[in-house]
This record gives sequence, structure tokens and C-alpha cells, in this order.
Amino acid sequence: MLVHLWLQQNGNCQSCGDAITSQTRWALQNIVPRVLGESDTNSNRVLVHESCHELFDT
Ligand SMILES: [Zn+2]
Repeated sequence: MLVHLWLQQNGNCQSCGDAITSQTRWALQNIVPRVLGESDTNSNRVLVHESCHELFDT
């Protein structure tokens, strides 16, 4: 759940470190595991601001 991720991150964006609130847009960032066999999908996702998500993709 998004709320669970949000709580795990203390409500902070994992890209810029600023708070993610109901007033900011957010996006789910998928982190591709670099080690084969690592299949825990929950640990491969972080919440970031929507604007930060665009930066991530480049
Ligand atoms: Zn951010």
C-alpha cells in the first residue's frame, strides 16, 4: 500500500528528502534489482515526488 510505503519513509521523498504531503503529487518509483534473484517487490518501490520521478527516469 502507498500509505505503508509513506510511513516507512517517514513521509519523505526518497529522491530529494522533502516531505510528501497530500498537497504534493507523488509517484511510485520502481527500483530494478541489480542482484538476480532479489524478488522482494515491496523493497523495490519507493515514493517520490512526481517532479522527482521525472528526474529519476533520465
Ligand atoms: Zn522529491
